Amino acid sequence: MRSIPTEGYSGAAFASPQQRSKTVLVNGGAGFLGSHLCERLLELGHQVICLDNFYTGRHVNIEHLLQNARFRLLEHDVRQPYDVEASVIFNFASPASPPDYQRDPVGTLLTNVLGAVNTLDAARRSGATVVQSSTSEVYGDPHENPQRETYFGNVNPIGPRGCYDEGKRSAETLFFDYHRKYAVDIKVGRIFNTYGPRMRLDDGRVVSNFIVQALSNADITIYGDGRQTRSFCYVDDLVGGFLRFAEAGEDCVGPINLGNPTEITVRDLAEIVLDLTNSRSRIIYLPAVADDPQQRRPDISRAREELNWWPTTELKTGLKRTISYFDALLARKEVVEAV
Ligand code: NAD
Ligand code: UDP
Repeated sequence: MRSIPTEGYSGAAFASPQQRSKTVLVNGGAGFLGSHLCERLLELGHQVICLDNFYTGRHVNIEHLLQNARFRLLEHDVRQPYDVEASVIFNFASPASPPDYQRDPVGTLLTNVLGAVNTLDAARRSGATVVQSSTSEVYGDPHENPQRETYFGNVNPIGPRGCYDEGKRSAETLFFDYHRKYAVDIKVGRIFNTYGPRMRLDDGRVVSNFIVQALSNADITIYGDGRQTRSFCYVDDLVGGFLRFAEAGEDCVGPINLGNPTEITVRDLAEIVLDLTNSRSRIIYLPAVADDPQQRRPDISRAREELNWWPTTELKTGLKRTISYFDALLARKEVVEAV
């Protein structure tokens, strides 16, 4: 079993700046959300271990953190057992974009199931609090809108999204069984579509696709009729919600929806992106993808009540920041390709 040496755990309260630092493990820390989380944890004074196998994560996301003496990178696959002495573990290791998880469906399911088992075992041995990044996909193509945590969902277990959806659902089951059976201190957060800087140019999700297409004056690709809805949360808000959750009391286990309840159609999102980028792109309609959820909006009453958390970044504000990020990235790419 892989053993991860650590130092500096104090047992102090989590995200409170006046407290001493904790050792925090972030699985999937080189990915989009994980790298933002690592950054915030370092800013709060904690020791951070970033564990990643770089399936979709990138060194460039964490390069700037490597100079920090409180940051360590560990290349490891959560499908393999490991041991760690951390006081908190965030389990964010899993591909998240449909093209990414559908490229290796078996690997995705196993990352979620074995990754949960190995992480819960590590937490059980070390006494760590373990925070799971679950997803709105556990609700599948929902018959209830907005989705409350009490809704059991409508997932097709044998469809092309099943590897991810059922992997995440099984992981939730494992989390709650380890909690009931072995008293592991768990927290399960269900993330709704989150966007922001450090999404990959080619990760295939709607926000990155539309922005990159618009900035390149390429066709904006809407799958289906564009009337399906999503509710987009800016990354900083989401990370703030997870930090609140991690420092909540032991009784606060979730599941808790974390997302922005402002719901819009995919077609409206395309229009907003076109407008904010002054793009000459035209919108084209491609065939709908299989089992695409038609509506998605979080009910965040539980997050408000139990964590005193809600997102504050308006969609247009978050999109402008994300557009600036992709604009700079595309400019650098052009320079690199030109030399
Ligand atoms: P991402 O693909 O950018 O990050 C995932 C990270 O996990 C990557 O760094 C990847 O290399 C790593 N990883 C994948 N398989 C691994 C394995 N077997 N062992 C170790 N590391 C592994 O995606 P993201 O958007 O940052 O998502 C992070 C987490 O949040 C995921 O668990 C995802 O399911 C969840 N989530 C994200 C969203 C969202 O909108 N971004 C929505 C719902 C849930
Ligand atoms: N989508 C789209 N064009 C794209 C990428 C995605 O119309 O280029 C749609 C997709 O079919 C879905 C929504 O946008 O209805 C959100 O897709 P994404 O992959 O970002 O996230 P998820 O489906 O996991 O919510």
